Amino acid sequence: MEKTRSKIHFWLCWFLSLSLSILFLLGDAIAKGGEDFLEVNWFPGEVHQGEICVVDVSASTGASLLTGEFQEKVLSFYKIKKGEFRTLLGLDLDASPRTYELTISARDRGGNVIESRHHIRVLEKDFEVQRLTLPKKMVVLDKKTGVRVGRESRKVNKIWKKERGERFWNGEFIRPVNGKMLSPFGVRRILNNLPRSPHSGIDLRAKMGEEILCSNTGIVVLVDDLYFSGKSVIVDHGQGLYTMYFHLSRSNVKEGQHVEKGRVLGLVGYSGRSTGPHLHWGVRLHGARVDPFSLLRLK
Ligand SMILES: [Zn+2]
Repeated sequence: MEKTRSKIHFWLCWFLSLSLSILFLLGDAIAKGGEDFLEVNWFPGEVHQGEICVVDVSASTGASLLTGEFQEKVLSFYKIKKGEFRTLLGLDLDASPRTYELTISARDRGGNVIESRHHIRVLEKDFEVQRLTLPKKMVVLDKKTGVRVGRESRKVNKIWKKERGERFWNGEFIRPVNGKMLSPFGVRRILNNLPRSPHSGIDLRAKMGEEILCSNTGIVVLVDDLYFSGKSVIVDHGQGLYTMYFHLSRSNVKEGQHVEKGRVLGLVGYSGRSTGPHLHWGVRLHGARVDPFSLLRLK
């Protein structure tokens, strides 16, 4: 009897220690898996206001449903090669300079959600300041115009809220016209001592009637004549990325139309609030106003 009891005791102890070591090994494997499962890198390492940040993720084999979240926006990824995915973050020109959390998550082979959290540091950019004094009647909008401007800005702002998960652009983005820059991105305008909205795009020198090329493939989401930007075209490149072309003399495309990179969207003009022919080129990424040159630098 005594012998049997000690035998049971022996086997119980052996079983317990084996289970514990299996649990310990397994626990170790899960913890390690969490760290190695998603390798996240971004560049530039520290981003300035108004810049694009490229986030690359290498996922272990068997990873699925890769998603991300940044500034309360859901991020979609596109494949760059086997097991490697990319997404773009846009830091608005007015984003407060601090650290923002980036969350990346995916499922492993067993269906478990693996989450990886990172901190992106945003630095203040020294934007140029432009002071202008103009006659009051040129600065203050009459009631009717004020209502029109409000309606138009609501219509345009709705566009950024309808992001498509798929990506239409491919390869590098091209300059829509060749002319040099007349006015840089982010210039803080102070009109009659009152701060106005900063310049949310770049002004490129161009001749009246010059062809404006679509910077990359996408879908035309707006063709309209607006008070400030005149004849305007907005192209949705997918995954929250849009390019805008303002002050046209005419547009050659329709809303809903699929446009290839390099296609002529319209001709240069000075419609809307513009002092002479030029192209105002703007970019939105997940609603953030970003520098078009940041887009041209993408490889
Ligand atoms: Zn402009």
